[in-house]
Amino acid sequence: MKKYYPMLDLATVNAPWMHELQAAAARVIVSGRYVGGEEVEAFERELAAALGAAHAVGVSNGLDALRLIVRAAVELGRMSPGDEIIVPANSFVASALAVSDCGLIPKFVEPSPATHNIDPQRARQAVGPRTRAIMPVHLYGRVAPCAEFRDLGLMIIEDCAQALGASTPGGMAGALGDAAGISFYPTKNVGALGDAGAVVTSDSVLADTVKALRNYGSDRQYHNIYAGLNCRLDAIQAAMLRVKLTWLRQVNDARRAVAAAYDRCIDNPLVVKPAHPQYAESHVWHQYVVRVADRNGFRRFLADRGVETAVHYPTPIHRQPCYERLFGTQSLPVSETLAAEVVSLPVSSCTAVSDAEEISAIINSWRR
Ligand SMILES: *Cc1c(COP(=O)(O)O)cnc(C)c1O
Repeated sequence: MKKYYPMLDLATVNAPWMHELQAAAARVIVSGRYVGGEEVEAFERELAAALGAAHAVGVSNGLDALRLIVRAAVELGRMSPGDEIIVPANSFVASALAVSDCGLIPKFVEPSPATHNIDPQRARQAVGPRTRAIMPVHLYGRVAPCAEFRDLGLMIIEDCAQALGASTPGGMAGALGDAAGISFYPTKNVGALGDAGAVVTSDSVLADTVKALRNYGSDRQYHNIYAGLNCRLDAIQAAMLRVKLTWLRQVNDARRAVAAAYDRCIDNPLVVKPAHPQYAESHVWHQYVVRVADRNGFRRFLADRGVETAVHYPTPIHRQPCYERLFGTQSLPVSETLAAEVVSLPVSSCTAVSDAEEISAIINSWRR
């Protein structure tokens, strides 16, 4: 029988923690507290400590985390609808949705083709009189430049959905700017068993504002200082995440081993491997992304040999139909080229290094 190499098999990913997850779920069931409460507060403390930030606020998902940061900044008078936030054009659409949902304008900037992260020079050039913030996205798990924007006087909002656990000499991803949005969607490096997210910040005023906004805008019961939302975190997801957070280093190290195998073994002039980061710790390999000019031919060749692949992402954000009217005429050739050439290979905490070696051998046998 032909071997099959899946991109990601979530049941297998979570299997090692079956008993711990069951025990944590049972704890929540008997507690009788299912939304917010002690379980969520404990998770918030543990997450903040893991990232070296003062506060973590558990919320419903990663998009809401980013959206609540922008909304809180608006409520605090730090920015207003109509202002701009710089966003890389080659991210997942949620990065921009968080901005436009609050009535602000995403200002799309090209990535550096080597890192796929926002190009610092182009980002600086994009700053205008109404620019209030920049949103570096740690795409594919590689830490994006943040420190380089500190002198611009802009709020730095990290989209840390893909890079939990990545670290730099200057601190952990999620604690490199003014606030970070984190996603615990099941496919992320640390995934809940459903939707979940968090805002991480060392700004106490911002943290309190996000806490109020996630709970209808109330600072105390039946007293609403903001016209808020319901973006709370379920206790059962917090309990699942408390288990999985303790394995953060191990799951990321497993991904690093798979990436190292691809780096070592892939040797095909038609396949461009990711550039090496300056610090190995600053990449957690949410995706291992290669570039191939004949992407369709490459993917078909791999699929015929049992290797599943994916494309993150086929359409740059400014080309999405929802933004067509606003940005459809904008030309961002770097983002458009990357969108046409990127291919993600299987990588997860339960991808075997030997599988990465076998996949590499298949890749090396591909000719146009
Ligand atoms: C997953 C993801 C999000 C959104 O997180 P959800 O929890 O799915 O809402 C935002 N930005 C990036 C870069 C992501 O990968």
